[in-house]
Amino acid sequence: MNALLVLLVAGMATALSAGTGSGDITVHEMPSGTIISLPAATVDEERYAAVPAYFELLGFTWQWDSGSRKLTCMRGSKRFVFLQDISYFFRDSLVVALRQTPVRRGPTLYLPLSVLLEIGRTIQGYTLTFDGAQSLTVETIEPALATPSPRTGSAALSPEGAVTGSIRTLVIDAGHGGFDPGALGPGGVREKDITLSIALLVRDILNKNGNLKVYLTRDSDEFVGLRERTRMANRLKADLFISIHANAMPGSQKNKDAAKGYKVYFLSEAKNEADKLVAMRENAVVELEGPRRGGELHDVLTDLAGNEYLRESQELSILLDRQFEARLCRKIGRLQEGIGQANFWVLNGAYMPSVLIETGFVTNSSDENHLTERPFQRTMAEAICGAILNFKKKYEKGL
Ligand SMILES: [Zn+2]
Repeated sequence: MNALLVLLVAGMATALSAGTGSGDITVHEMPSGTIISLPAATVDEERYAAVPAYFELLGFTWQWDSGSRKLTCMRGSKRFVFLQDISYFFRDSLVVALRQTPVRRGPTLYLPLSVLLEIGRTIQGYTLTFDGAQSLTVETIEPALATPSPRTGSAALSPEGAVTGSIRTLVIDAGHGGFDPGALGPGGVREKDITLSIALLVRDILNKNGNLKVYLTRDSDEFVGLRERTRMANRLKADLFISIHANAMPGSQKNKDAAKGYKVYFLSEAKNEADKLVAMRENAVVELEGPRRGGELHDVLTDLAGNEYLRESQELSILLDRQFEARLCRKIGRLQEGIGQANFWVLNGAYMPSVLIETGFVTNSSDENHLTERPFQRTMAEAICGAILNFKKKYEKGL
């Protein structure tokens, strides 16, 4: 058996180097005997096949999100997610590295056939045999497991095939709470009170927009762990997660007076020391909750999971920044460049676009005063809602 495999691989290599590997692949579906063709292309002398058509062979349906250039293939509870030009994919909640990145050829994502065969062989219910050249046999061995898939007739990620998700459910996260006051201002203002006031206002404003379901991670002065916040958002299958905070500058009064303004963050490795410090301060509450379960590997996976929505999160950050600039700039400035990237635990593990807003510095007397004013809080909440509605409109059209 092993010797045969080696021969097949050798045969494929010869065919490719001879340049005869172009053209579609003929697929024999067994036991029905149906013959269909799988779109294929030769890229850098390697045989690539269309990913959605390949997954259809294995009984999957698929959705293409043109905004995030993300292909989701589903069968029952199984889910594979491929991202254009990104060298890993998601198998259910697991992140798996890819030897080659999925490339876009025309309107379809392609991957090397050898990679697709490796992935296909991890899926139960089918036996895959490739003759090394032109012919692939897909044999259904457990018919009960295979659900019939609608044949679209074409693997093209055409506008008809494109399914753009809609934004319906939001989770607004009021930072800190209960025994965790968050940052404290010179006038006695507590971060946890500001974040709750603004979160409640955001919910009230959005509730008037009948199209959205808005949930808060807390609606009173209570402690909610960082992990529980994203867990709740995942449980509710939220489309957006927005965490509201207020910033703090440690050190001398001079330092405190110098640091002011809002800033919007999305999840990523911190790009500079200042952003890293903000993340460290907001993450400090993790210490109160005890060590993270799962260890380092889990951290890596959740970091990558966040990246699945990096483009959307970044887009939402930009829209928030624009709204703040337009509505708030006369009262509260923007801190350095308006958008930051840092690794916040509270965003870690959220399987949806997610951002963290530092509304201003409670350690700065001027910001502290603004943040406690009701009209200012309302303007801030309106700016957040404006950005959410803009994002919803843009996302539903395809970013
Ligand atoms: Zn905070």
